Amino acid sequence: MTLAENLQRVQQRIADACRAAGRNPEEVRLLPVAKTWPAERVRELAGLGITTVGENRVQEARAKANELADLGISWSIIGHLQTNKAKDVLAFADEVQSLDSLRLAAELHRRLAAADGLRGTGRPLRVYLQVNTSAEDSKFGVTPAETLDVARELAGFDRLHPVGLMTIADPDPDRARECFRTLRTLRDAIAADPVASAAGDWAELSMGMSGDLEAAIAEGATVVRIGRAIFGERPPHAG
Ligand SMILES: *Cc1c(COP(=O)(O)O)cnc(C)c1O
Repeated sequence: MTLAENLQRVQQRIADACRAAGRNPEEVRLLPVAKTWPAERVRELAGLGITTVGENRVQEARAKANELADLGISWSIIGHLQTNKAKDVLAFADEVQSLDSLRLAAELHRRLAAADGLRGTGRPLRVYLQVNTSAEDSKFGVTPAETLDVARELAGFDRLHPVGLMTIADPDPDRARECFRTLRTLRDAIAADPVASAAGDWAELSMGMSGDLEAAIAEGATVVRIGRAIFGERPPHAG
């Protein structure tokens, strides 16, 4: 399978899932996840019309962003971010989907305020609040119980622009659907809360990966993050 064929298959899966759910395919954004794959594969993908790419490790993402600077790709960070890496991320990324603590929010905000917005443009950083819907210890994210409070607190960081919620579902397909439903319910609660909703748009639900994108779209995903179905299987233990 070529990259072009894989990409087309994924786009078809998204279209089919939207049709099955009675949704407009334009409501669902495909975010290819390039972790572990070399810059050249990302260049190939960009040649197929892809303009945004997800990465979960800052150093790896930054190296690719430098190497591919001519392409104007918009980089999205989807992996846990240590506060001491906030500065590195702001050097190249346009969005952080893995905002998982107020401590990280405060650090990103502080750095953005000092730089007058994202790379001096005055623009805020797009962020997704990550929720640990599967309650697995190994996963990052705020708990469902604290999500609304954290969303309210984000109103205090005007250099961050919350656009929605992100989750990584339980690997068990039956439980995955429950995780996606939880995320949507939380988003609806935020939208109905005057303080939290004033802090951002909260329209986006980033949920669904190669193995569970159909269930995620059925539950309202607006962003699906796809690695393996586009690039192929990653080498073992590579994240
Ligand atoms: C790797 C990764 C993905 C993509 O997973 P695939 O199963 O390869 O599609 C999505 N989201 C996050 C946060 C990831 O780390």
